[in-house]
Amino acid sequence: MNLKHLTDKTLLADTKQIVRYERSYITQVLWHLKEIDSRRLYSDLGYTSLFDYCLKELSYSESSAQRRIVAARALKDMPELAPKIESGELSLANISLVQSSFMPEDRSEMMKQVANKSGSEAKEIVRKIKNLPKTYNVTMDESTYKLWIEMQNLGVDLKQVVVQAKKTKLSSPLKREVFTRDHEKCQQCGSKRRLEFDHRRPKALGGQDTAKNLRVLCRNCNQRKRVAAGLSRPNHLRSGSRFSATDPGPSWPSEPQDVFPSGPYKKRYYPTY
Ligand SMILES: [Zn+2]
Repeated sequence: MNLKHLTDKTLLADTKQIVRYERSYITQVLWHLKEIDSRRLYSDLGYTSLFDYCLKELSYSESSAQRRIVAARALKDMPELAPKIESGELSLANISLVQSSFMPEDRSEMMKQVANKSGSEAKEIVRKIKNLPKTYNVTMDESTYKLWIEMQNLGVDLKQVVVQAKKTKLSSPLKREVFTRDHEKCQQCGSKRRLEFDHRRPKALGGQDTAKNLRVLCRNCNQRKRVAAGLSRPNHLRSGSRFSATDPGPSWPSEPQDVFPSGPYKKRYYPTY
């Protein structure tokens, strides 16, 4: 479809109209799923559940199928939600959240509370009402995780940990020594841009802040090393990355093979130094 001939005004107006159609269609899908569910037509077709039918017959992804089924069942109990879904006031994600978090008698009131709210705003509303502790997602490698559990068992104050981390910053003389020894360039690809200090043996695995354990790498090579060691996520899996699964960025440097795997992002472990 080529839309280059459209004026800006028409393009924006058309998009709004199409989104209205889209929501109207989604609401119709929900009504149809609700009816198929109550007639259990999916079993006539050999499917074990409505979810199975949505996945295999309608080719929805698991999360899309789940959201639609939950919303369709919500419509059965609360038909008044339909115009709100159609107007965009209620998203399928927020309906699912309410359905999974509250008892049937509280859901109608909660739907009003999460109307016109983003997913994260709705989650925060639910968290406060249910008096749940605030949660944070932190990704860490296995050895850091073990250390974290150990610290919790010992009742270590988190503020102390931050102070300790600050104290172990590399000293300027050490950085100068490594930088000079490595001729101010990446020891992997020779680049002189975006240089960083790399711990040959990662600190998380017990590596020390010594000249022997340190070397200069450019950001690209350092990132790849971390990914290869399973200490970081590949660039194409990070949000906002300019790389993708089909274009994982520049190719791997060839040497040394003991640290850098031959293919992109293949998990390997560090040799012991
Ligand atoms: Zn490099």
